[in-house]
Parts: sequence; structure tokens; C-alpha cells
Amino acid sequence: MADSDVGPLAGATQNWTTLALMVVVGAIALASLYMGFTNYGEGNMETAFMYILIGVSGFVAIGFTFFKAKPATKTQDGPKEVEVVTTLECPQCNLKRVRAFQPGDYIFKKDEPCTRCEGMMTVTRINARKDPKEKKD
Ligand SMILES: [Zn+2]
Repeated sequence: MADSDVGPLAGATQNWTTLALMVVVGAIALASLYMGFTNYGEGNMETAFMYILIGVSGFVAIGFTFFKAKPATKTQDGPKEVEVVTTLECPQCNLKRVRAFQPGDYIFKKDEPCTRCEGMMTVTRINARKDPKEKKD
């Protein structure tokens, strides 16, 4: 139970940290822009340029944080096609067959008659496979 509490809480804290950081950077950027224009009005062009540069890069940083935050959450629902497959083996002729997992499959289950001899195909392996291309049967 303790484990399930950590996930959402950690995500919320990260969001708050990002938000707080963006507010701080935004405030600094605004202050810098203000200082820049004040210095510009007073004729201190070099100081004005420096402050405006800080202000603009602050807003650029906020923009990057904003755009980077979006795809990060989207990768979660990416490729999640995990296929479960059952491996059948004939103990008599060693014929091997892989088919999609069916409910009721379990290891050592005598599943179906062998197509090559009189033996019974036995389930030897049940595992997840990521590649959906090898889907046979
Ligand atoms: Zn066989």
C-alpha cells in the first residue's frame, strides 16, 4: 500500500517544483526586462541590453520547460503491445509450436495432440513477447 502512495505524490511534487521554478524564473525575467527598459530610458545601453538578454532567455527557458514537459508525459502511453505467447512442445518428437496465449494455459498442461506423431503437445513456456510480427495461428 505504501508503494502506491509514492507514485502520484512524487508526480505532484515534481509538478509543483516545475511550477515554482517557472514562477521564479518568470519573476526574474520580468524584473530583468523592467531593469533593462529602465536602463534603456536612462541611456545605459549596455546594461539595458544585458538585462533584456537575461529577461528574454528567462522566458525562453520557461518556454522550453513547458514544451519539454508535454512529451515527457506522453511517452507513457507509447508502444505497450505486449503479446503473451504459449510454447508447446511434443515430448516424443520434440516438435515445437508457439501460439498466442489462451485462458487456461499453464506450464506442463497437455494441450493438444501432436501434428507429427501420436504424442500430446505439452505447454513448456508462457511468456510475454513484444514483437507482434511473429503472431502465428
Ligand atoms: Zn510429436
